[in-house]
Amino acid sequence: MSEHGADSHVVIIGASLAGTRTAQGLRTYGHAGRITLIGAEDELPYDRPPLSKELLRSDWSDESVAGVRLITEAEIAELDIDLRLGVAANGLDTESRTVSLADGTSIAYDRLVIATGAGARPSPWTPPSGVLQLRTLADSRAIAARLARQEHVVVVGGGFIGTEIAAAAIGFGCPVTVVDPVPEPMTRLVGAEIAGALVDLHHANGAVTRFGVGVTDIRGEAGDLTVVLDDGSELAASAAIVGIGSVANTGWLDGSGLTLANGVLTDPYLRAIGAEDVYAIGDVARWPHPGHGIDIRAEHWTNASDQARYVAAAITQGASAAFDSADYVWSDQYAWKVHSVGRRDPAGSSIVVGDLAADGRVAVIHADADGIACGAVTVNWVRALNQVRRLLAVGRPADAIVEELGLRAA
Ligand SMILES: Cc1cc2nc3c(=O)[nH]c(=O)nc-3n(C[C@H](O)[C@H](O)[C@H](O)COP(=O)(O)OP(=O)(O)OC[C@H]3O[C@@H](n4cnc5c(N)ncnc54)[C@H](O)[C@@H]3O)c2cc1C
Repeated sequence: MSEHGADSHVVIIGASLAGTRTAQGLRTYGHAGRITLIGAEDELPYDRPPLSKELLRSDWSDESVAGVRLITEAEIAELDIDLRLGVAANGLDTESRTVSLADGTSIAYDRLVIATGAGARPSPWTPPSGVLQLRTLADSRAIAARLARQEHVVVVGGGFIGTEIAAAAIGFGCPVTVVDPVPEPMTRLVGAEIAGALVDLHHANGAVTRFGVGVTDIRGEAGDLTVVLDDGSELAASAAIVGIGSVANTGWLDGSGLTLANGVLTDPYLRAIGAEDVYAIGDVARWPHPGHGIDIRAEHWTNASDQARYVAAAITQGASAAFDSADYVWSDQYAWKVHSVGRRDPAGSSIVVGDLAADGRVAVIHADADGIACGAVTVNWVRALNQVRRLLAVGRPADAIVEELGLRAA
């Protein structure tokens, strides 16, 4: 790997959370050379979590939209970032160290950071209109416009994004049905200890759930759709919002020599396998997770942000330890704040602390097979979450954590 030079040119592809935070981090850590940040979207970088939460439910005023920007024009100028928006990278030549762009130009780099994220997994059902998906600001705006009509919507997919959209749709006054082929999709999100209460929360707010049945077809058009389910039943809907996962944006790297396997594969230092001085971070990266012992592609805000900071430091100061992830995720479900940190060990056990029904809050602390705490899920209990996060870092037994926190196990 070439030495970091104060005048080296760092090119970042993907101007969203990971890309923007890398550019900012480079300046924080003292990079004095050029920084070019290239983004396919013609939008000043913005944050995605609010697209299914507060922005979706907002009045969409200029002020609301400005609130989700990750950086301002003034900051871009102050940090001397060469931001090029509305132009996608469409090829990488690691021999000549150049990235080709869709406008026919190319750009040379000393260090390259790939931060092209992921897109919504395309809907397999494509009627002429009425099927919506959520990944971008424009998507969120289109969904808000549809929800404002207060007509029945079917949400396909009971993951975090689908359930957040369902909650928002209820807030708009829309009748909502959530469909997922998995019988207990919310167990995937929050674990078996809390999943039932989360389903109850959706029902109490008026959402109808059809779990354990898949969609076979969506026919008609916006305002008059028929969603056909694999048990033979049909749902009439004004729109279907399909949230069935994501696909890493790696198409532009085909033929580059990088190892592409559901993301850009990296080493433990987030250096792309197959090239020198190329890093991959955020939703597009697949890296060997020390805690999980396998290569994973995380699709979480904190991971993207932490990886950006790590790579910015690695480029300016050299990497010290391998990247480790906090595995921290949050979701808003109606008034509930759900947080998850670390992991659940299938060979381990879990301690439930608190009572959601009685106290309005709960923490589930996961232990590995040796009883050492390895993760937690909390609902409406940020203090417990933060304390667990601190103690996880030092490898405490799960029952000791419960005691130290002065928590009462259920
Ligand atoms: C609706 C929604 C809600 C979410 N809520 C939460 C949440 O509550 N909690 C949580 O932890 N996480 C949440 N996430 C996930 C979180 O937003 C992502 O983990 C994060 O955005 C990843 O950042 P990223 O920069 O790696 O990728 P992305 O945000 O996907 O950005 C990649 C950027 O690269 C651009 N790009 C792609 N290809 C090219 C190309 N060839 N050339 C140039 N540019 C390109 C894209 O246009 C995009 O702007 C949510 C995501 C969505 C969509």
